[in-house]
Amino acid sequence: MGAGGELAAGDFRAWLSGMRAAIRGERDAEVPCDGCSACCTAGQFVHIAPDESETLARVPRRLLFPAPLMPEGHVVIPHDARGHCPLLVGGRCSIYEDRPRTCRTYDCRVFAATGVEPDDGLIAERAARWRFTYASESDRARHEELRTTAVAIRERTEGVNATERAVRAFDAADAG
Ligand code: SF4
Ligand code: SF4
Repeated sequence: MGAGGELAAGDFRAWLSGMRAAIRGERDAEVPCDGCSACCTAGQFVHIAPDESETLARVPRRLLFPAPLMPEGHVVIPHDARGHCPLLVGGRCSIYEDRPRTCRTYDCRVFAATGVEPDDGLIAERAARWRFTYASESDRARHEELRTTAVAIRERTEGVNATERAVRAFDAADAG
């Protein structure tokens, strides 16, 4: 575990339903980031879909590039030479109210929930600190099931990044 103590991830069942809604695009992930900006400095390309007009209106065109292997209209914001998103200014997102869906739905607790190891060290440190609470033994068992599913799909997801692997594990367990 990295620097810092345990972080309250909240009630596991409540997190599950929030994560489900975020994946369906019905709500933002409500992560208690509390000043952390690790996922904005993790060397990621941030995807923006063509329907995200408010976001696209806020991002300077010079920062937008066609998204590899995606249909026309999908774009990415590449990270800068330090691995930081260029929209991170003074440790804060400069377009927070209109940030991309990718950022709105990102929840590093999915790594704690599934046991998938993040690719990025800073996110891994943060994810290792989350601790869920359980209202019942069946909720605790559900969490175990999620971890077991994540281990089972690990072998089938070579070449897939850690976030996608964790989300697939979540989906697979949720559908089960
Ligand atoms: S790594 Fe987690 S806690 Fe940190 S900014 Fe990203 S989502 Fe928030
Ligand atoms: S757009 Fe904002 S929230 Fe998204 S990675 Fe960049 S700085 Fe972070």
